[in-house]
Amino acid sequence: MSRYWSRRLVGITAYQAGEQPQDRRYIKLNTNENPYPPSPRVMERLRSMDPESLRRYPDPDARLLKEAIAARCGLTPDMIFPGNGSDEVLAHAFMAFFDPEKTLCFPDISYSFYPVYCARFGLKYAQMPLTEDFRIDLDAYPDECGGVIFANPNAPTGRFLEIEKIRGLLGRIRDAVVIVDEAYVDFGGASCIPLIREFPNLLVVQTLSKARSLAGLRVGFALGQADLIKGLDIAKNSFNSYPLGSLAIALAIEAINDEGHYLDCTRKVAATRDWVAPRLSDLGFEVIPSAANFLMIRHPDVSAVNLYKGLRDRGILVRHFNLPRIADYLRVSIGTDAEMRQFLDRISEIVGKE
Ligand SMILES: *Cc1c(COP(=O)(O)O)cnc(C)c1O
Repeated sequence: MSRYWSRRLVGITAYQAGEQPQDRRYIKLNTNENPYPPSPRVMERLRSMDPESLRRYPDPDARLLKEAIAARCGLTPDMIFPGNGSDEVLAHAFMAFFDPEKTLCFPDISYSFYPVYCARFGLKYAQMPLTEDFRIDLDAYPDECGGVIFANPNAPTGRFLEIEKIRGLLGRIRDAVVIVDEAYVDFGGASCIPLIREFPNLLVVQTLSKARSLAGLRVGFALGQADLIKGLDIAKNSFNSYPLGSLAIALAIEAINDEGHYLDCTRKVAATRDWVAPRLSDLGFEVIPSAANFLMIRHPDVSAVNLYKGLRDRGILVRHFNLPRIADYLRVSIGTDAEMRQFLDRISEIVGKE
């Protein structure tokens, strides 16, 4: 707290992103980055870009990117809202669709940025408990609420919720916006995009950071009916007219258009996940079934903090959330096969099963 800070900052606990250490080389399994490089088409486009073009402001509406995303998703460009990472898109959505006097509902265990946005925008929220086995229980969500948001697959559990369950929720909640954050949908889930034409209050949010290997580029987008997108445009244009630079727009288009490359990468990551999970079970770990590019795990004998430290000392970073219900768990991103062999060797040492 400083005497120079505005009152708006009081009470905001900021989100803590996973470490991006600059000191030594770690096997980085802590921020759900993709272990494979982006599409070669992204590299080619980058090399062919004329620096002279950076003299100009970018297209404030990123029209060509909207068209590329729309074509891939079977929607029209007026149903697409791109932004500087899906984190920024989510912030605009909180501002555009949720009212301070109503209560926003989201799972008690989900993306930990949601309560931060609530503090940022002065919103009340109710954290709806996941079931004992970490499933989202939409039946418990009230018809009357200020909105709903959750990640599917959920984070940091990795569990996927069937689309029919979400359709059920949308059938009941007509007067508030439901946001489905699909950051991990490409690793084994199914998207809610087909529900958009049916439900004017559904907003789907996706990102190029995970499946498309472009976390450093900062591009995410929302999909919904044109009314919702217009609301997001007002939120955006009252904050920053040019959230995406011309580099980001050009490279994102290449990434969206190279469907083949991204399918290869996501399949490889899913295959690695599916051989790592049973090996962890063999070592005595409880492993939550995951449709995402990470696993949430717990060991009966070694605490999450000791596992985290032991791995860090051995050059491997994973994520520990010191939060209710999940403080005993670690979230481990899926790396390459070679990285995961290292991870399994090191964690075997730590739990005493070499
Ligand atoms: C990674 C992640 C995001 C943010 O992605 P960016 O596009 O990199 O900002 C949003 N939601 C969830 C659930 C995530 O895990």
